[in-house]
Amino acid sequence: MSKRLAVLIVLSLIIVIAGGAIFLRSRQHVVEDISEVSQETEEPQKVTATVEPDLYAEAREQMVETGIIAYGIDSPEVIAVMRRVHRHLFVPEEYQRLAYENNPLPIGYGQTISQPYIVALMTQELGVKAGEKVLEIGTGSGYQAAVLGELGLEVFTIEIIEPLANEAEQRLEELGYESVYMRNADGYFGWPEEAPFDAIIVTAAPDHVPPPLLQQLKVGGVVVIPVGPVGGFQELWRITRLAQDEYQSVSLGGVRFVPLTRAGYDDP
Ligand code: SAH
Repeated sequence: MSKRLAVLIVLSLIIVIAGGAIFLRSRQHVVEDISEVSQETEEPQKVTATVEPDLYAEAREQMVETGIIAYGIDSPEVIAVMRRVHRHLFVPEEYQRLAYENNPLPIGYGQTISQPYIVALMTQELGVKAGEKVLEIGTGSGYQAAVLGELGLEVFTIEIIEPLANEAEQRLEELGYESVYMRNADGYFGWPEEAPFDAIIVTAAPDHVPPPLLQQLKVGGVVVIPVGPVGGFQELWRITRLAQDEYQSVSLGGVRFVPLTRAGYDDP
């Protein structure tokens, strides 16, 4: 073998070995990348109203125009939040396509998410502004709490049915509502440690106004509450605390809510 040929063979061997090493390195790099990606995707997926593809934008706008503005809701802040909160994220998957009809929908355990117009009306009647403190009795899906949170309020919400409370808490956390605080309890007694409140909204109907709620209201504050017989129609009231011992009630009309229960939910 000539000296030139030997040099050529050695050179090509070096090239092959070096090439192989580079190939291996790049493969290893790819593998590292994949492990990084899979580590990321193992983290719980965040469903936020802003990143989720908004399949329902048109339906929601329609709901706001025909079900809320056309029915007389005129607070610009309330109309804006009804446009922003994605109601379909608060209902079971099988009802998502109905989420922007102006109707209540089942959320399990015999409970319902309220009709969007009623949510807007009750929110408007609270007469609250950003930064104030609101108590909600009957978290249900968490939709009303999200609407209040979007208004910039500090929201304390109580749900008596434990699995609903857990689901709503997780949902509100995933959606990033940091100023909404939850408790699984009987809301009849309010949330004395956080009282007094600028406003209280009750989204299940008792047959009388719970006295603890009136006591936990600031002077000048408002309770919006349906009151009436179980299973029938109730009257929606706005009660203003005018002074320490003076309240004024105004009827907002007939409504139909699930009852305010005292025992939660028993598995049948
Ligand atoms: N605001 C809810 C809808 C409420 S449905 C939403 O936006 O989805 C009424 C809710 O009140 C139900 O989830 C029911 O379990 C709850 N509830 C009934 N009695 C209660 C009580 N004593 N304390 C707290 N929650 C109660």
